Amino acid sequence: MQTISIAIHGGAGTLVKGMMTPELEIQYKAALQKALDAGYELLEAGKSSVEAVEEAVKLLEDSHLFNAGKGSVFTAEGTHEMDAAIMEGKTLNAGAVSLITGIKNPVSLARDVMDKSEHVFMAGEGAMFFAKMHNYEIEDPSYFYDELRYNQWQEIKGTDTFQLDHSLKKDSKFGTVGAVACDQDGNIAAATSTGGMTNKRFGRVGDSPMIGAGNYANNETCAVSCTGSGEYFIRGVVAYDVSSLMEYKEYSLEKAADTVINERILKIGGDGGLVAVDAKGNIAMPFNTEGMYRACKSSNGTEEVSIYKNK
Ligand code: ASP
Repeated sequence: MQTISIAIHGGAGTLVKGMMTPELEIQYKAALQKALDAGYELLEAGKSSVEAVEEAVKLLEDSHLFNAGKGSVFTAEGTHEMDAAIMEGKTLNAGAVSLITGIKNPVSLARDVMDKSEHVFMAGEGAMFFAKMHNYEIEDPSYFYDELRYNQWQEIKGTDTFQLDHSLKKDSKFGTVGAVACDQDGNIAAATSTGGMTNKRFGRVGDSPMIGAGNYANNETCAVSCTGSGEYFIRGVVAYDVSSLMEYKEYSLEKAADTVINERILKIGGDGGLVAVDAKGNIAMPFNTEGMYRACKSSNGTEEVSIYKNK
């Protein structure tokens, strides 16, 4: 029988036990659980992996805890610029958006690019025009306001520093979000969404919306959603690298994901992690940082919601 599985992440980084209050830890785990359950329920009901990953990512985007959608970090101009991607492993169809503002659920816009256009990747004004054409509401900037994110930005505003949400100090929040899933038909999909880096300028775009770097899905190999130092993940073509090791070297999902995160990307200086599934419903969630907000659930009985290295 086909195994159904879903795995999600809410960012990787300097997450050490004792760093967060127990209350906050409970909030993070509850937000992960909610997104996980919503995605899994759709898979159980026979819906596609694309629907499951979109739904899970939407719920993570709606939480202020993660650096995506509502919780997106501030740019150097004090705005929020978001990136997202989605890919279907059966058809290799994909959709991605970057440098968008005011959109509550960037992952849904990425899905509309995939389903309702001839294109794969839309950015900036053009992507916003496409969103308006498809009747997206534009949220007021206050929807994206979060005190902690604002303070993170204030600390480096006016400097040349731009900061990955992962590598901050103790009170920092982390968080690009992503989901991968395998459905009842053995089709897999991946989705990723992010606010990028605090104080980013120059239309900086990370790995998250780039097909093959931060997000990839192919039924023949795997579906992958990454989080980490985007510049390195782009250069390492991380998500596609996992797929390539499976395709050309016939590595298992576990071995391929582990090799990329703990050897290949580390070698070039990249830190972060990923969640991945294959068409048999196997799951891998490696990371080379102290922790990664992550959760997974499978019809083979696997279930996990964790933050730190040792859970
Ligand atoms: N990879 C994302 C980026 O560079 C950041 C993250 O994972 O939080 O935009």
